Amino acid sequence: MKKVLLIATGGTIASGYTEEGLAPKIAAEDLLQYVEEYKTFCQVDILQPFSLDSTNIYARHWLKLAELIEEQYACYDGFVICHGTDTMAFTAAALSYLIQNSKKPVVITGSQKPINLPVTDARTNLLDSLRFASHDRAHGVNIVFGGNAIAGTRAKKERSKSYNAFSSINYPNVAALCDGKIVFYIDDRDRVTGPAVFYHTLNEKVLLLKLMPGMDGSVLQRLFPYYDAVVIEAFGVGGLPEYGQVPFYTEIRRWTDAGKIVMMATQVTHEGSDMEVYKVGRIIKEDFHLMEAYDMTLEATVTKVMWALGQVEEQELPGKRKSPGQSEPLEEQENSGQSAPAARQGRSGSCGLVEQRACSEQFRRLFYKTVNHDMLLYTLE
Ligand code: ASP
Repeated sequence: MKKVLLIATGGTIASGYTEEGLAPKIAAEDLLQYVEEYKTFCQVDILQPFSLDSTNIYARHWLKLAELIEEQYACYDGFVICHGTDTMAFTAAALSYLIQNSKKPVVITGSQKPINLPVTDARTNLLDSLRFASHDRAHGVNIVFGGNAIAGTRAKKERSKSYNAFSSINYPNVAALCDGKIVFYIDDRDRVTGPAVFYHTLNEKVLLLKLMPGMDGSVLQRLFPYYDAVVIEAFGVGGLPEYGQVPFYTEIRRWTDAGKIVMMATQVTHEGSDMEVYKVGRIIKEDFHLMEAYDMTLEATVTKVMWALGQVEEQELPGKRKSPGQSEPLEEQENSGQSAPAARQGRSGSCGLVEQRACSEQFRRLFYKTVNHDMLLYTLE
């Protein structure tokens, strides 16, 4: 019989009604009581590192989840993480970068309705996830939700209420789950060779900036001191406005001269960016050698930038800075629903010019390497 570790983190699946609204309160072992059928195909152990609405989950929690899985990796055939749906796509993408080359499945699931309601998607999603985590062909990080398995880097929450909340963006579903059966559309476990690789560092100082008509570069001017990277959600296939008192052009120069990462992406969900099509994109891309996310999701883009920056800093500048994601114990905010603003203060970029070039080349290599199906349109391989 397969052994699965269930890691419960809160979310709607474990929520109940309180005077202040829905909040996580169902314990991990109680979740399992609703899906007893699992006992016919797997044995489950439980961990509950925190219990949060996923609105309160960010980099330090992703690092904690990866750490737990690394610690327990040898003892289980698969892992299921119960998680709120709101930031599930970010967690799935982050874990895809923190846990690479895993022959064992790491499944993330949740639901639109609490598990203890008479009509809910929670029981199907949890049972499907345990089944997927017990399957010999399953591997790597996937979201299992609404009858689909979606690569952890390709998922997006596209519906706030319906049971089919998640879509796979610019990539097919990995598998379909129905009536206890799994049909794999992407059946590539045999291509995974070598041991699983776990990473322990993220740089949280990444800004996601959505353009809107009328915005100029002054927003980047003001935010310059606080971030090491910006992902710009441009319009269409990509470009930057040329108007305003503080043009984007000047600010992109300021950021890139300082060794910060400027990553171009699109606010259009499907089909991706292609900065070279229009003059508003091509010139600025060429002048500053800008990178772009192409067909990646925004969730994957942001977390991959955090991960790649974290690795560059760890390897190129050993010991120079400590990851804010690792700097304070989780317990401080576990179960409290409170954020800890002081803990969010991260590092600031401070490389010399030579180091800067090496950093940015290494960053480019890491970012343009396909991980867990995250990018099809462009790679350096
Ligand atoms: N607010 C909830 C959460 O993300 C929503 C859900 O789980 O569906 O934790």
